[in-house]
This record gives sequence, C-alpha cells and structure tokens, in this order.
Amino acid sequence: MGFAEIIGHQRPLEILRLALGNGRLHHAYLFVGPEGSGKRTVALALAKAIHCRETENDFCDRCPDCARIQARNHPDVRLVQTLEDKKEISIKQVRELEKELNFRSFSGKRKIAIIDPATLLNASSQNALLKTLEEPPQNSLIVLIAPNAGALLPTLRSRCLRVSFGPLARDEVARYLMSKEGMNQDDASLRAALSMGSLGAAIKFDKDELLEKRRSWAALLLSLSAGDYRGAIAAAEAIASDKEECLGFLEWAETWYRDLLIYAATENSDEMVNVDMLTEIESQSAKGNFEQMLASFAQTARAAGRIQRNLNRRMVIERFLFGVVGGR
Ligand SMILES: [Zn+2]
Repeated sequence: MGFAEIIGHQRPLEILRLALGNGRLHHAYLFVGPEGSGKRTVALALAKAIHCRETENDFCDRCPDCARIQARNHPDVRLVQTLEDKKEISIKQVRELEKELNFRSFSGKRKIAIIDPATLLNASSQNALLKTLEEPPQNSLIVLIAPNAGALLPTLRSRCLRVSFGPLARDEVARYLMSKEGMNQDDASLRAALSMGSLGAAIKFDKDELLEKRRSWAALLLSLSAGDYRGAIAAAEAIASDKEECLGFLEWAETWYRDLLIYAATENSDEMVNVDMLTEIESQSAKGNFEQMLASFAQTARAAGRIQRNLNRRMVIERFLFGVVGGR
C-alpha cells in the first residue's frame, strides 16, 4: 500500500505529497471533511510517509515504522483522542502532548501528533494547543482532524493549513467494497448509496438491520403523510427511547426528503440514496407538495441539532412528526 492506493481525495493527497516532496511540510494542518471519509487514514499515511524506511516520500505499509504507526505504538507518532469515559480532550492531554513534542525524536525524523476529532478539544485545551502552535517545537507536525471547523477557535484555525476533504464518490466506495471487502456488486452499490460518501459507515453498518429499519421508517412517514396523528405520537415515543435511534432516524429522514426533492425536480434516480425504495419515492413525490418536502427536509437537521443538545427527545421527535402529518 502507498498513496496511490488510497481511494478518493486526489486534491488533498496532491497538496500533501507536493509539500512532502519539496521538504516544505507545514508544522500544522487542519483536515476538514465529512465523518468516515478517510481523513485519519490520510493523516496516518502522511506520518508513515515521513517515517517509512523503505520508500522516499511514500510508504510501504510493511516496514517496522509503518507497522508501528498503523498499530498506534510508534514512539514519534501520537494519536490524541478522548480518553475512555471522557467527553472532551482535556488540557492535561494537550500539555502532555506538548511535552512529548519537545522531546528529541527517536528516529531523527519528525515528531507527529494527530488530534482526532479536534472538535472535542474544550476551550481551555484549545488555548493550550494554541500556545504550542504559536511556537511549534522543532521538527514537529500536528494534524487536527475535524468534521467541520466551526467548533475551533479562529486563532487556532488560522495557525493551521487547512486541507478540505469531500465525501467519497459513490462508485469509489462501491469499488473499494468489492475489491477489499469481497462484496458482490449489488451489496456494494446499495451500501455505497446508503453511506453517503462515508467508507467508514459503508463497512460498519449492519445492512439487514438498517434495511429493515429504513423500511419501517419509510412506512411510518408514508402513513403519517396520510394524516395519522395518533400514529405520530406512538412512533415518537418508540423512537425517542434512545438517543442514537433518534439521530439515526433523523439522518435517514433527511436522505428521504432529499430523495423526494431530487426526484420531484429531475425524475432522475442516479443521485438518490434510497435506491431500493424507488417505487415509494416516485409515488410520494408525485403526491407531495414541493414546499412541504423542503420544510420537512430542513426540519430534520434542526431536530437533530436539538437532540444533540439533549432537549427532550420525545418532544423534538413528536414536533417533527406532527410537521409531517400537518403538511400533507
Ligand atoms: Zn514503510
């Protein structure tokens, strides 16, 4: 394995390989892009390319250095995450990291820290990290990984070179699933569509369970849009019993309304996520009112934000479902 075998992300890889080749790597990068798209894989690949003893400006993935980076026990490469049972990356972790970066490197090559996700640095840890970035230890490299840069202090962001990652293309995900995970084409295509550009999600989800859930959620939204308030109350109670379930449902509902809107506007199914429910989408999209679909689409993200902020789940889901019933 080397850079050439990483799927997608042509632009970010070009930027990094060019800097690597010229010996002009920055001391801090901010990798921004959707969850599961491969930011951490690229950060680790960069670390391997710096330390690999078999290749120059690329990595072999076999030598002891590559292997230790992959196993997260290379003495010069540190992955900083939240500690078990903790919700944030603490200031103590950042201070330890700074100390470590100031030690002389074991290999004589760069000391590297990858912070993932950097959005879990609280305000005081961000300030502590800012000090490190203002006076970067010699021969160090820090990579911050974040789904979006919004949660980071502007002063912190401005100290890093930002590299943007897009979602992976659907056919890239499908090809990977077939060649590396041994899936057949139908399975790979459906997973690729449902994963929305996240290879992590495409590999991880239990497809049968997800398919069953999606079908029951679609049946729910279809029956609600026929005017079933009582059904909405019962469904809200069931979904609201679990936070992950709420977020999963809303994330899926967003793809559902997005599909309805795409179909209503283009009558084309190429870009759809719910490719296995085309019949339902066709008929619903024909019945539906465009503005109402747009409103429900917008509501999914708002409701998900409220759930994330720990507002009363049942109330949030009920309000969302009432919107679906009322908007028929
Ligand atoms: Zn190597």
